[in-house]
Amino acid sequence: MSNNNHDLTRRRLLQGVAATWLLSVSQIGLAATPQVIAVRIWPSSTYTRITLESSTSLKYKKFSLSSPERIVIDIEGVHLNSILKQMNGLVQKNDPYLKQVRVGQFDKNTVRLVMELKQSIKPQLFVLKPVAEFRNRLVVDLYPANVTTKQEEDDPLLALLEDYNKGDMVKDEPVVAAQPGRAGRERPLIVMIDPGHGGEDPGAIGRNGTREKDIVLQIGRRLRTLIERQGNMKAYMTRNEDVFIPLKVRVAKARKQRADLFISIHADAFTNRSAKGASVFALSKKGATSSAAQFLAKSQNESDEIGGVSRSGDRYLDNTMFDLVQTVTINDSLKFGKDVLARIGKHATLHKKKVEQAGFAVLKAPDIPSILVETAFISNLGEEQKLRTKAFQQQIAQSIMAGIVEYSRTLYK
Ligand SMILES: [Zn+2]
Repeated sequence: MSNNNHDLTRRRLLQGVAATWLLSVSQIGLAATPQVIAVRIWPSSTYTRITLESSTSLKYKKFSLSSPERIVIDIEGVHLNSILKQMNGLVQKNDPYLKQVRVGQFDKNTVRLVMELKQSIKPQLFVLKPVAEFRNRLVVDLYPANVTTKQEEDDPLLALLEDYNKGDMVKDEPVVAAQPGRAGRERPLIVMIDPGHGGEDPGAIGRNGTREKDIVLQIGRRLRTLIERQGNMKAYMTRNEDVFIPLKVRVAKARKQRADLFISIHADAFTNRSAKGASVFALSKKGATSSAAQFLAKSQNESDEIGGVSRSGDRYLDNTMFDLVQTVTINDSLKFGKDVLARIGKHATLHKKKVEQAGFAVLKAPDIPSILVETAFISNLGEEQKLRTKAFQQQIAQSIMAGIVEYSRTLYK
């Protein structure tokens, strides 16, 4: 990295500014000292994610050093605590990108993290606001710097994640354009399987420690095997390892592969542990309306298509077209969901006998019939046991498969 000196000079300047700023905040008396309350490190084949969870939002600066390759992150207004001290213990030996982390109190108000790397890295840092049980988070994603075009083709996730982090996911041109023709007849029906959660997000956790993210990945893999056995279908997975993937990226992956169907697989949880049974969700019209506006606002690319309809450039016309496409998609999703729910109901308990509708972000592809299957309640002791068994996992996968077959059978009637 050639611009170290430049970085350092700039850093000194910034430090001065930050010191002034911190001083002014503490004078107001609002400056609650941020506490780092958890650290998580998730290596995967495409990138390693390091998450620092804290009581209030963290202020940081980062710079890179070479020979050996290092990333230095200075976190301001934080004191070294036992959680930070244990950070290096979380680094796994087989992590493809991260070798070790050294943590120290750099000055009175700054904790310095020095990440030693196994290869040249393009880091991406961003903060996330509290959501669900998570507090404020500072996320450090370590991507390999020298990704060849070949690798990028093999794993569109990398490119997608980068775009996503730039808030720019919709502009992507599809890499795997579907062949023309009717799905399941003249060309394979393309199914995107989306095992929920993953990586630092375990999903729901049963009383015996069963993690939703593990179960749904197993069911997803079983479903993929069943789909691939059909001659006229092709399955893709949004994740096939224990990795965190943002919801929008899951949708973007489905659109990128021009999927004909999208199936998100989950296991439910509820405070009342007697709740049980499977449910199937489709997108609600209300959830769709807000996503329509968002989609149109974000897709400035003239070549963007929605459900095979090109944008006209006329905002009013585009909105109308989008509404039409989305309405058709929701109706298809409801039909698809009904087919799946009916098959699941033959062998398993149903939580609700009708396809429910909600504004789940993962169902918001405007042009792909999408459903979310809550396979059972992991919070229910009996169902947690069942979810762990191969027999139940296989049965759910087979039921979803039968639903896909039924849906595709009626596609061209
Ligand atoms: Zn879930």
